[in-house]
Amino acid sequence: MSLPDSELPRTEDEWRVRLSPEEFRVLREHGTEPAWTGEYVDTKTPGMYRCRACGAQLYPSDTKFDSHCGWPSFDDAIPGAIKEIEDNSLGMRRTEIRCARCDSHLGHVFHGEGFTPKNTRHCVNSLSIRLDPSGA
Ligand SMILES: [Zn+2]
Repeated sequence: MSLPDSELPRTEDEWRVRLSPEEFRVLREHGTEPAWTGEYVDTKTPGMYRCRACGAQLYPSDTKFDSHCGWPSFDDAIPGAIKEIEDNSLGMRRTEIRCARCDSHLGHVFHGEGFTPKNTRHCVNSLSIRLDPSGA
């Protein structure tokens, strides 16, 4: 399911042909899907959430929790799978999260909200991830 390094797109045009228009807008142009519309908002299926662009493992399903914010939310990620970038767009100070492997946009990370003991919420677009069910 993970793209070999040799097949990872190098340009935005190469990404554009691999992804649907909606996926391209979110993953490569830092778009945000409307709240409550994503396919994984309420998903409880066990498995591994991977980057929809490159297939890298990002979030085990046991890190997913109900945040009632309208997007899939996770309180932890596979170590090293995510990179954080300061985002001061829209007049807000937020931290953008991207796939460390292919630099695709995932969403934003928030701290100190108290949802879970880890006190972290990775707010991720469903279009940025794909669940690989464990079959359990
Ligand atoms: Zn990726």
